[in-house]
Amino acid sequence: MTGLRWGAATDTGRVRSSNEDTALIAHPLFAVADGMGGHAAGEVASAVAVDTFQANAHLSLDGLVEAVRLANQAVLERAEQEPSLRGMGTTLSVVALVPGHVEVEGGGAASGPHIVVLNVGDSRVYLFHDRQMTQITEDHSLVEDLVREGRLAPEEARDHPQKNILTRVLGNEPDVEVDAWEVLPDRGDRFVLCTDGLSNEVDDETIAAVLGRLDDPGDAAQELVARAVAQGGHDNVTVVVVDVVDDAQAGARGPVSATAAGPPTLSGPAVEPRAGPGPAPPNPSRGGEERRSLRLTWRSALFVLAVVAVLGGAVGAVTWFARSTYFVAADDGEVVVFQGRPDGVLWFQPTVVERTGLTLDQVPPARRAELRAGKEQPSLDAARRYVANLEAQATTTTTSTTTTSVGPP
Ligand code: MG
Repeated sequence: MTGLRWGAATDTGRVRSSNEDTALIAHPLFAVADGMGGHAAGEVASAVAVDTFQANAHLSLDGLVEAVRLANQAVLERAEQEPSLRGMGTTLSVVALVPGHVEVEGGGAASGPHIVVLNVGDSRVYLFHDRQMTQITEDHSLVEDLVREGRLAPEEARDHPQKNILTRVLGNEPDVEVDAWEVLPDRGDRFVLCTDGLSNEVDDETIAAVLGRLDDPGDAAQELVARAVAQGGHDNVTVVVVDVVDDAQAGARGPVSATAAGPPTLSGPAVEPRAGPGPAPPNPSRGGEERRSLRLTWRSALFVLAVVAVLGGAVGAVTWFARSTYFVAADDGEVVVFQGRPDGVLWFQPTVVERTGLTLDQVPPARRAELRAGKEQPSLDAARRYVANLEAQATTTTTSTTTTSVGPP
């Protein structure tokens, strides 16, 4: 099973008089919200969003996205009820461990705990994997939009005067688009949720260095907040660090999926021959000798059937074992989804299911070794999610260097 451990810290900073950030620490739900609005409105917005999200969260991707939508409506409704709260809004970034079900070919299912990441606004979720940090979420801010469109250099974005203008936030419109990711976690992965009070003050390299140095998630969160305050503390700062402390793949791959899917598949081919013509029943009107030989024939036929059934079952089991898994591997420098096992089984060699168009160069360096070896996945869906993760990470690592020119608005 996948286990999590976590730590969190927050600080008002050196400039603001109150802390309008809200953190949610309610295993398996974690969130940060950065409220905005005059007077106490920001505090109310982030608290209403987090409370509503938690109260409505069901542990599935759709269930969690729906809870964010309800949080959006709750912030809007509250602002409509109280004129002093008009115009308030909040960001919301979520990390949740979802039990989920991974379908396995042959009708079985394996439990596949995975991490769901959701985002609206410019709070962030980072993934620290294999000592490499990538930003999973995209900031919904005017300045980051301009960077993504190639109209602003990342260096210019850092101290841009309009940096705090958000393009998406909870509490602005009746419906809100929610960005979502599903991540199959590895033991040792660290997810970091933070408000912009961290990311505006402390650069990614420094954040990664702290995460690499401090093993305890509470220590890491406190150190990151302390760094942000030391850098100026211009804004409220909130950090939640969530560590994956057990290997999710051990539950979802190999042994567990074999146990879960084995029996129905194994019993399939073994039962099938008996449903065929079968032996003729002995004729009760015949004499003793004849009956005995008939009985022998009956037993021989059963024996033959049993052998056929066992062999059929064995072939079925080998076929199932050889074909039930998918894996993602590099083929000619391209990330490709295969069906089968990386080294093949007996006469079954892996076959190409999908070529992704993603090149190994675009993949974060930390993931390349496992792709060269072949990263097993319990189902095609899981393999696709894994590729989607790679693509998301490729996107987030390349957006900051995109230089595509786009015409004027
Ligand atoms: Mg802020």
